[in-house]
Amino acid sequence: MKPPLLTLVDARLWTDPALPSETTDPDRVDVTIDTNGRVASITPHGTRQRSAARVIDLDGRWLMPGLVDYHVHFTMWAKHRGRVSLAGARSASEVVDVVRGALVDHPVLRVADAEPLVGSGYQDALWPEPPTAHMLDDVAVHVGQYGRPIVLISHDMHSVWTNTAAGERYGVPAGLLRENAAFELEMALEAEEMADPRRIEVLVSDAAWAAAARGVTGIMDLEMADNPLVWASRVTGGIDALRVVAGVYPRHLAESLARAERTGKRVPGTKGQVTVGPLKVFADGALNTRTAWCFDPYPGTSDRGHAAQPRGDLERILCEAREVGFEVALHAIGDRAACEALDAFAAAGAAGSIEHAQLVRLQDVARMAALGIAAGIHPEHALDDREITDIMWHGRTHRAFPYGDLARAGVRLRLGSDAPVSPLDPWLGISAAVFRTRDELPAWEPGNALDIGTAVRSAWASPAVSLGAQADLVALDADPAQMGARELREMPVALTVLGGRVTHEALDG
Ligand SMILES: [Zn+2]
Repeated sequence: MKPPLLTLVDARLWTDPALPSETTDPDRVDVTIDTNGRVASITPHGTRQRSAARVIDLDGRWLMPGLVDYHVHFTMWAKHRGRVSLAGARSASEVVDVVRGALVDHPVLRVADAEPLVGSGYQDALWPEPPTAHMLDDVAVHVGQYGRPIVLISHDMHSVWTNTAAGERYGVPAGLLRENAAFELEMALEAEEMADPRRIEVLVSDAAWAAAARGVTGIMDLEMADNPLVWASRVTGGIDALRVVAGVYPRHLAESLARAERTGKRVPGTKGQVTVGPLKVFADGALNTRTAWCFDPYPGTSDRGHAAQPRGDLERILCEAREVGFEVALHAIGDRAACEALDAFAAAGAAGSIEHAQLVRLQDVARMAALGIAAGIHPEHALDDREITDIMWHGRTHRAFPYGDLARAGVRLRLGSDAPVSPLDPWLGISAAVFRTRDELPAWEPGNALDIGTAVRSAWASPAVSLGAQADLVALDADPAQMGARELREMPVALTVLGGRVTHEALDG
């Protein structure tokens, strides 16, 4: 008999404080993981010692199933991480300060001098002074990086602010570019990034390890790409820090079917790390662009948003998906979209989830539960959008981002970040779901908050740390049930294990 691969000694199994505690469970346990990467035993701490290939003493840390981010756009996120965030800067000189810091010490940017420094997310409409090329030239000189191209992209991507070196590199005037001139530069930058696929793969690998460091063992990737194929090549190429459920878009469905794929099928050659995910379909648009499809008009208009599919098509697409073995991840933000989505799920007999579910009528919450349709929830968006929601969905905010209603009705919740829209870090989403605030503002619509147990479980890879289960595990330095909003966002993660393999370790002492 082979010795176990790994033993985790002195772990405290974290359980939902709202659930009745199983008094037979010992407080501290030792967990062994066999060479197949599965949990082979859970015994009271110190009662049994078998020599494992590796023993890690958790010293009473909390152990739970690994976390999954159930909605990411991973390549976009990987690229986004390499960019400097300029969000919240109130003037051009505040941006320059951020750029100075990034030039000096942004770790992702410790590369050849010619590598452009790219920032994004500034909003210059209310700035007291106009941004100039000179300001950026000046800061580059001051930190000894004269000639380093600097490209800063606005939040809405309709303007780009560059220094002289970037102007020369991309053949555009330096300074502030707007509209077409900005788009041209953004496309040139994109082309340059794509010209070196190895660079993207390095960024993807970095992002995967960074996710593991937050306790993540799996993602559902909804990048607009042929994801099963992309991830099969990544995993065989050594990017193996995460399990990936690879979503498929209608435009790639034919290729996917030609490979005999269907939801839940393992992608060959990926050591079980990549499985085929759902078909991603859109029912409507988004709140910020007022294209989320609602029962009531947007304030001061007769506009109710719009359907992303012509009438009847949603049901047809879902029928086809069911026939070829695909579940459907159905993007629905407005309450009308959610209602139509459920009509289509019911008529087609399809399975899957409603992604976003930002506004849902109570009767549709009940239908979701009855149909067994999961909810893909992204709690950071509730906080990003609380102001605009108060305006656009005035009088309906008690059922906006209705996580509490969904949980009470028994809808299965699946936590996601929608990275790069919000950062890939489940602790941010868990904190946002529980506290409905992340700053000095009071909790927003606290009636729809989740209790800590429900929030944490909505991110778990499996229902419990149990015998025979895949050993995707995370150990925490602190008890999530005892933490405030800010602490929870910064949850210290001590250890992440993927199928018995350590993917992150930060154990001190
Ligand atoms: Zn998304």
